[in-house]
Amino acid sequence: MNFKDYIRVIEDFPQPGISFKDITTLLRDGQAYKAVIEELARHLKDKEIDCIAGPEARGFVIGAPLAIALGVGFVPIRKSGKLPGATIEADYALEYGKDKLAMHDDAIAPGQKVLIADDLLATGGTIATSINLVKQLGGEVVGAAFLIELLELNGREKLDGIEVFSLLQY
Ligand code: IMP
Repeated sequence: MNFKDYIRVIEDFPQPGISFKDITTLLRDGQAYKAVIEELARHLKDKEIDCIAGPEARGFVIGAPLAIALGVGFVPIRKSGKLPGATIEADYALEYGKDKLAMHDDAIAPGQKVLIADDLLATGGTIATSINLVKQLGGEVVGAAFLIELLELNGREKLDGIEVFSLLQY
């Protein structure tokens, strides 16, 4: 299965000059969605992982089924103001904007091995902030996994040498 055939590229969204990789066309196909999760799980199955953390919203769509496939828990990383319990927060810059990410302050136990998952690695800002939050909680970030990596934005370089796996590169 060629997964890129299932991803729709929309030019100038959400701003002129951005070539947006729309994964909704892959997600709506049950076989393609299942196959990408299985493929990610195959690459990660020998890694020691206690839980997966993923940023909203598309990090949930990849991270949660991947957690089930690997038999580990899932921890949501959310925009500020969405989580009901006590949180820690960190600022981040997006490829096209700015925001704040938050985690429950008890979401990860010190020493837990955490894999971060998202749909797409662009500039790396979202994941650098996610790594920062997990580390603040005492978690050990053992890797980051993505469906898509936008190579020309060099997001990997922002990730503190953390091992990165991406299934598709543009
Ligand atoms: P970064 O922080 O610049 O690495 O941007 C990654 C975040 O922005 C991810 O959470 C993506 O969901 C979102 N994102 C950025 N560009 C795209 C795109 O082309 N398609 C889908 N999501 C994108």
